Order: sequence, then C-alpha cells, then structure tokens
Amino acid sequence: MGAGASTSLLVLTACTDTSPVPTAKPTPQPTNSVPAPTSVRRSDWSNDPFALGAVSFLPVGATPLHRANLAQSVMDRVFFAGEATADDPSTVRGARDTGARAAAEVLEVVGPGERVAVIGAGAAGAECARRLAALGVDVVVLEARDRTGGRIHSIKGSDGQFTELGAWRLGVDSDAEVIATLARLDVATAPHAGPDLIRESGSDAEVLTPAGTTPANTVGATAVARATEWAVSQVADSTLADALDASGALGAAASASQGDLGGEELLQQYLRSLSATTGAEASTLSAWFTPPQQTEENLRVTGSFVSLIDSDLSGVETFLSNVVVGVSYDENGVRLRLGTGESLSVARLVVTAPLGVLKSAAIEFAPLLPFGHRAAINAISVGAIDLIHVRFDEPFWTTDAVNWSLVGTDDLITTWVNLMPGTGEPVLIGLVGGDAAIALAGLTEKELAELVRTSLEPFAEPV
Ligand SMILES: Cc1cc2nc3c(=O)[nH]c(=O)nc-3n(C[C@H](O)[C@H](O)[C@H](O)COP(=O)(O)OP(=O)(O)OC[C@H]3O[C@@H](n4cnc5c(N)ncnc54)[C@H](O)[C@@H]3O)c2cc1C
Repeated sequence: MGAGASTSLLVLTACTDTSPVPTAKPTPQPTNSVPAPTSVRRSDWSNDPFALGAVSFLPVGATPLHRANLAQSVMDRVFFAGEATADDPSTVRGARDTGARAAAEVLEVVGPGERVAVIGAGAAGAECARRLAALGVDVVVLEARDRTGGRIHSIKGSDGQFTELGAWRLGVDSDAEVIATLARLDVATAPHAGPDLIRESGSDAEVLTPAGTTPANTVGATAVARATEWAVSQVADSTLADALDASGALGAAASASQGDLGGEELLQQYLRSLSATTGAEASTLSAWFTPPQQTEENLRVTGSFVSLIDSDLSGVETFLSNVVVGVSYDENGVRLRLGTGESLSVARLVVTAPLGVLKSAAIEFAPLLPFGHRAAINAISVGAIDLIHVRFDEPFWTTDAVNWSLVGTDDLITTWVNLMPGTGEPVLIGLVGGDAAIALAGLTEKELAELVRTSLEPFAEPV
C-alpha cells in the first residue's frame, strides 16, 4: 500500500508541472488478424422451446435421489426417462440407459394389445421405443420438433460434412457401446486428442501440454479436487465456489503456477471449462456432486450422430411436429392433449421431455404429478451450454494444439476446439457454458461474429 500511495503522489506532482513535457510515443503493438469466417453456426439450447436448457446439474440442495424420484412411474401409467433421470446425466449414454430402464418398467405391466406412447424422439425416447417395438408392443412416438434427435442435432453441410450442435464426443471406454453401434451404422468417429494450449490474453504467456497429459491444467484440477474432498467431509453441502474458498484450495491455487501462467488464471480457466461441460457456474454447482475430472480419451463423432436415433426409430410409428401440451391420467389409462387441439388415448405413457420443459410446465399434468416428482423438478437445475462452429477458408493459426483456452480475459468465448489436426478442415468449435452461454444467447449474429474474431485474435499470427 505504501509504495502504491507514493507512486500516486509522484504522478500527481508531475501533473501539476506546467512546463511542456514531451509525450511518450506508444510502442507499436503487433496486431493479429483473424480473417472473416466462411460460416458461423451456433446452438441456442436455452431458448430452444423443446429443450429450455442444455443439460441438468445438481445445485446445492439437490442430490441424485431427486433424479431417482423423477424416474419413478406414476400409477404404472406414466413413466419417466431422459437425461435428467440418469445415473450418468449430461450424456447420450445416460439418456439411452434411462430409455432402456423405462422400457423394462413398461414391459412388466403392459397388457396384450395395449398402446404405449413415448413423448420425445431423442436418445431416451428412441431407445425406449426401439425396445418396446422389438418385443411386439404397439408403440407410438410423439415428437414436438420437425426432426428426430433432440439434443443430438446433426446438420449436413453442402460439402457433405456434418456439424453437431448438441452431443459431439464420446468416451472411448464409458461409451464403448454407443461407439460400437455407431460403427455398425457406418457413422464415422475420430480420435479427439492432441496438445492442450492455455494462453494469456494480451501477453506471450502460455502453457502447452502434450497430447495425453491429463489433467492439462494441474493447478485447476488440484484446487477443485481439494475443494470437493473437503466438501464431502462437511455436515452440509456448499457451492463449489464456497468450498474452494473454505477449503483453502483457492488460496493454494493463487500462489501456484504452471509454466508461464499464474494460479488464479489457471483456476479461472478450469472453472470455465467445467461450465462448458456442466452448464453451471461454480457459484451454483453443488460441491458434493461436482462431476469428477474426465481423464478418459475421447472420440469425436464425425459422421451423422443422429443416425443412431433414426436407426432406433426405424419401424417405429413416429409423428414429428406433434407437441404434447397436456397429460391426464388415472388408473385406467392416459389421455394426451396435442398443441393442435387433437387428443390421443393410450394405455401407458413414457415422458422423455427435457427437464427444462418439465420445469416450464409446458406439459400440464392432471392430476398434478406426485410431490416427489414436483420436488425433483424444482430441485435439479438446468445448465446452459452452447457450441459455435466457425469455418474458415484456410487456417490463420499455426498451433497444432487441439484444445485452446484463453485466460486473463472476460471474453464470453474462451475455449476452442481445433478440428484441423484431426480432419484437415479449418474449423474451430467454441465451447461456452454457464453465465457466458446465457449472455451469448442474447447476442445478434453481428455481435457474435465480432466476438468470435476478438476471442480468436490471440491465436492468430501477428501481421
Ligand atoms: C451443447 C450440448 C453438448 C453436449 N455434448 C455431449 C457430448 O459431447 N456427449 C454426450 O454424451 N452428451 C452430450 N450432451 C448431452 C446429450 O446430448 C443429452 O444428454 C441427450 O442427448 C439427452 O437425450 P434425451 O432423450 O434425454 O433428451 P432430448 O434429446 O432432449 O430428447 C427429448 C425430446 O423431447 C422432445 N420434446 C420436448 N417437449 C416435447 C413436447 N411437449 N411434446 C413432444 N415432444 C417434446 C424434444 O424435442 C426432444 O426431441 C450434450 C448436450 C448439449 C446440449
């Protein structure tokens, strides 16, 4: 403080001097040039009326028991599946497992000739319908969108390449079954591996870790591991942010460093990449249930991911553009009200609509769902994650790193995936989660294009 105060006094003294002082010429700073992209494509899951968020997460006060409560069937008439009810939430694998679980529950009670409806043609609904149809159950899928896949959204470009705006990568071991099914369907996957680059905005400081080094950011990973270890021995849950502070992990990280980078920046980077997978901020995420650091090798789906869903639904009666707005049920059956005003009576129903949709009460249940379901829908939160696919004519960067992160900046996009080393395509994917994703959703296309260029400047060659 003393040194700071005296510096200010010196500055003030200099300012009161009336004699002319030669103005210092600013040293010219090299500027980096990011060319205009040939295309920018982004997801907007938070504003998507049939998702209303990206994936579920547990804030303080919610536990996996809430997920189990949401998965309970009601009167053996209404069954629940979908990512938010999964043991492995936020994944295609987890969603498919819930579809298989709900199908098994229906099969225990379904009578001969009974009709079963499934709300949603995403990973959970398609897997459930496939299993029911395979055992001869009369099943119908009602999907609100004009496409299948839900939060798997594959778009084929004019060049034949696929862009995934939802799920896009798979764990080599944990997703082995999905990977094998994709292989059977001739859907290509490619290793998502390579060096990791964390660079400080406005300086040359960076940390470059070779492929296969996990975690790449040891300071951030150590701090979060320390905070969550501390949290599990506490009598009450706290947010990850509070646990970082109270456990001493924050202080330890601040005095650590890795390569050229300081610990505070590295922890910031780690938390932002955690937001891009959970959709949550550390200030909300439960420290008891913060997902563990992923260390497994990943594959990227380079073919059409949605083929997985379409294969499940082949032969299943599927009605697209059919929004279910009401569900009335009793011990005799279920009546569905559609947005068109039509209705449909079935013996049993499987609901796979995302948690965001259930939270918004866009589907009205009569009678109200049991208290356990309502408590779960309220307790579990929905996070924000968005992807921005940016294609260039040719690469303007020289790094071979596959994962890029920027620290020391408040930019909304600080995490990029470089597809060039894997595919030879000059394509970058921005990954944004939590508050940054919500802020991004409010930007116009022009503002987004500007933001993309600013956030990529530190990776461009100086001109
Ligand atoms: C940006 C992003 C990135 C992700 N990345 C990955 C990843 O890399 N790897 C991974 O494994 N997972 C990833 N996930 C998670 C994964 O996509 C989901 O867990 C999974 O796809 C969810 O499947 P689901 O069937 O539960 O829900 P959904 O796929 O959302 O299916 C629910 C369906 O219900 C329909 N529906 C909603 N309301 C109604 C209604 N009223 N009437 C009729 N139909 C309705 C919806 O349109 C939708 O088709 C990601 C998710 C997002 C958003």
